[in-house]
Amino acid sequence: MDFGLQGRKILVTGGTRGIGRGIVLAAAEAGADVLTCHRSDGPAVDSLVAALKETGGDHHVVRADLAEVTEVDRLAAEARERFGTLDGVVNNAGVISHIPYEKLGVEEWHRVLDTNLTAAFRVVQQCLPLLGDRGSIVNIGSRGAAAGIPLRAHYTAAKSAMIGLTRSLAKEYGGRGLRINVLAPGVIETEAMDEMPPDRAQALREMYSGKTALARLGTVPEVAAVALFLLSDLSAYITGETLNVDGGI
Ligand code: NDP
Repeated sequence: MDFGLQGRKILVTGGTRGIGRGIVLAAAEAGADVLTCHRSDGPAVDSLVAALKETGGDHHVVRADLAEVTEVDRLAAEARERFGTLDGVVNNAGVISHIPYEKLGVEEWHRVLDTNLTAAFRVVQQCLPLLGDRGSIVNIGSRGAAAGIPLRAHYTAAKSAMIGLTRSLAKEYGGRGLRINVLAPGVIETEAMDEMPPDRAQALREMYSGKTALARLGTVPEVAAVALFLLSDLSAYITGETLNVDGGI
């Protein structure tokens, strides 16, 4: 499908693994130029760089720990230096942690909120001057945040707040043509699941498949396609919205 993204400049945070990697590669294959970042070095970075080389285009993969505000600012400066302007931003970088609420320390609370929420706040703030009239921001939320998830109060608090942030910004900047939406994935099969012991991964697959109308988990390309739709002019009259990609949970 042609999303009309040829030559568009797009920043995707956390693009070396999982959903972020899928969005980066789909955008590059659609003809966009992509800047993405990661926190740690390793084979995932090398593999992304190699895959991006095959798509052609002006792509950049940089290290930036978005839990640190100064690193977010450096990433935005990199976008300015490499591209001058941006057409799209995807706030994808996120961390998940499971912990009983009474054991949730302030440090862990901040670690999860810094990466899943504060980074998005600051990325948008720093990228606003770079985004043109047809700019589109996609915030990756979580379908589970709306329902609540035991042991993930901090994570769901961050992801739910992303919806309020998105709606407010849609109203504040809609007048200049900027659109901002949340894409909320359900349970998506990523490398993280392949890295689990096979019996645990299988148990998770069975448990979540049973909760979806489509009786299966989602795939990274299925999420990436919706991200490209929201980045593209095909969604020109959608803003402030939360789009669930959850197989009908
Ligand atoms: P992964 O853990 O597979 O990948 C996360 C990516 O974000 C990696 O590239 C990672 O880089 C990067 N990242 C994490 N923390 C930071 C940081 N502080 N600074 C810079 N980059 C960082 O995640 P998923 O693909 O599973 O999830 C992606 C998004 O989708 C998240 O926001 C998540 O909450 C959301 N989501 C995922 C679901 C799922 O089923 N997978 C369901 C619902 C929502 P590095 O490897 O270097 O740390």
